[in-house]
Amino acid sequence: MRQWSLQGKKSGKSIALVPTMGYFHEGHLSLMRMARAIADSVAVSIFVNPTQFAPNEDLDKYPKDIKRDIGLAASIGIDCIFLPDNDAMYEKGFQTWVQVEELSQGLCGKSRPHHFRGVATVVLKLFNIIMPDIAVFGQKDYQQLKIIERMVKDLNLPVKIVPHPIVREPDGLAMSSRNSYLSPQERKSALCLINSLKIAQKSFNEGIVHPDTIRAKMRHEILANKNAKIDYIFIGDADTLKETDTIGDGTLIALAVWIGTTRLIDNIII
Ligand code: AMP
Repeated sequence: MRQWSLQGKKSGKSIALVPTMGYFHEGHLSLMRMARAIADSVAVSIFVNPTQFAPNEDLDKYPKDIKRDIGLAASIGIDCIFLPDNDAMYEKGFQTWVQVEELSQGLCGKSRPHHFRGVATVVLKLFNIIMPDIAVFGQKDYQQLKIIERMVKDLNLPVKIVPHPIVREPDGLAMSSRNSYLSPQERKSALCLINSLKIAQKSFNEGIVHPDTIRAKMRHEILANKNAKIDYIFIGDADTLKETDTIGDGTLIALAVWIGTTRLIDNIII
């Protein structure tokens, strides 16, 4: 992998990286197209990182179709796919972690306490291995994006982080590899995430600025589905990820909802 990157750098090419866990959908492909447009060479990593999953989570059943992924990446002109195995990424005796402290605590960090430590660590490893000039991250995983941006600043990493907007299905559901877990009934219920966010935006447009009032409306919309359970609804500052007393332009509304046994996330910025 290093050899490929060094070769590219020697000939003056800029390198963009799109880190993924594979099982590509249009969201991934859209990030890749963006990377393609802003760099000379594009590398995509596919690695289902075990250290960001808790023991009770879906590591073992995470969907996989490497052959299809490679075909899709090739079809949009990706130059290189990095496909390491667990032993290569985590050698025996591994014990060094990156912890982006405050930003990792709220939102998804509450119910997934070691998740972002695993994410930050593996992303730093990927940066060190691939040495990209640019890395593209989706805003769907908004907290992850903010944590990576912070890590890059705090550790002086020579990588430009480029955010990409959320890519949605025609009916508004945010695309996710985990959508493949949903039964047809659950797929319908899953619309409660985007619908509750739309209600939040509409309420704000009508003059409601109190987070509790908006949260109550969102909760009502979500819990109309018997198979839905709310993990969290966050309303607050889009940079610090701290809750705020009032909603304004630029406020982040982010949520995680269980639909049956599948945990989905989504967000908007007001
Ligand atoms: P994943 O394979 O789910 O870890 O995602 C790899 C990258 O794609 C991350 O930067 C995600 O934020 C991004 N991504 C996944 N789904 C979407 C989506 N629907 N819209 C935009 N970016 C996405």
